[in-house]
Amino acid sequence: MTARGAKSNPRNNPFTLGPTDATCTGMSEQTVGVAQMQHPLVRRLLAGNPSPFTYTGTQTYLVGTRDVAVIDPGPDLPEHVDAIVAAIGDARVRAIVCTHTHRDHSPAAAELKARTGAPIIGCAPLALDDAGPRADASFDRDYSPDEAMGEGGTIAGDGWTLQAVHTPGHTSNHICYALPEAGALFTGDHVMGWSTSVVVPPDGNMGHYLESLERLQAREQDSVYYSAHGDPIERPQRFVRGLVGHRKQREGQILRLLERDVALIPDMVQQMYVGVDPRLHTAAGLSVLAHLIDLETRGIVRRDDTLWSLAA
Ligand SMILES: [Zn+2]
Repeated sequence: MTARGAKSNPRNNPFTLGPTDATCTGMSEQTVGVAQMQHPLVRRLLAGNPSPFTYTGTQTYLVGTRDVAVIDPGPDLPEHVDAIVAAIGDARVRAIVCTHTHRDHSPAAAELKARTGAPIIGCAPLALDDAGPRADASFDRDYSPDEAMGEGGTIAGDGWTLQAVHTPGHTSNHICYALPEAGALFTGDHVMGWSTSVVVPPDGNMGHYLESLERLQAREQDSVYYSAHGDPIERPQRFVRGLVGHRKQREGQILRLLERDVALIPDMVQQMYVGVDPRLHTAAGLSVLAHLIDLETRGIVRRDDTLWSLAA
């Protein structure tokens, strides 16, 4: 899941940076279910699940030629699984790999495993803690990997290697996968080609999200990002710097509102998202909440029930 309730036009999306900040390669034509070559080792396949949450739909990636890994098999749509199986052809499937367990990413893993016999090796199932469920209906609770990858874990095939880079924030179990042979990083929903990520508490964590962005900024070996929604991102470190700047800007806005004793999230949203469709305000409010929780963790703000204020 990406931007809840946000329109697919980035200009109308409160989470987007706007087209001028993006360093994408530009919108490319893409037909649902038809594999598209991105690099000799990388093909992508668009699922037929376009929505305000998923942009044109989920991008499933096939890595390798003679043997392959399938990254983010996507939603449980029979025609999408058929398209993946057709794109695999005679190749052996080494692994089915998920970046995280939102319902537009992992549910097809089980069916693809049943049809190919390949193991599911990827992110951990979502952790549920004692304080109550951390996950809402957007999570795939049935996801059950044969092997959960930790930081630095690898999967290798003929001429390719995938390395796990743990990037919590959008979700606590989010993993990006590096493909050094292509200077590429598969970024799932952590960094996307069409919009900034939605960070929804309690599983989403703004502090972790920002730390994970900083981790990627330090990875100078990556020359292209393949995200789960939207087109490839070139000059990715610059793109990530823009994302960090966008969040710092939002945080600054919140602090200025708190200085003026604006204490309720809906009032903050009114002033921060001027001109944005009110139907998107719930999603915007969750993003503001994620920032406030982060500021609270850092001792900068405090809360009294639904009222927020600067810490003394
Ligand atoms: Zn997601």
